[in-house]
Amino acid sequence: MPRKLRDELEKQPRLYGTCMFYDLDRDQCGIHAARPDICRMFGYHKDLVCFRKPELATKEPAPLKQKHIGYLSIDITWKDF
Ligand code: SF4
Repeated sequence: MPRKLRDELEKQPRLYGTCMFYDLDRDQCGIHAARPDICRMFGYHKDLVCFRKPELATKEPAPLKQKHIGYLSIDITWKDF
């Protein structure tokens, strides 16, 4: 991640639980090309419905192979990178 983008994301005030990579200024994922698998699946599986476009969640429940290790911004913060 370019230092400039990281600095911008770190400075953005965000509500508790908002993903640390979410770019509030641009209203988009700040790491879109490298986002985690769960983010790629979100919105397209019946168990991962997005309230913005629920009609897109048509696939069977997501084939999750691993247990999650934490939540971005809560369990995993900038100090971990
Ligand atoms: S939750 Fe996933 S898709 Fe959303 S901003 Fe964070 S990394 Fe990007």
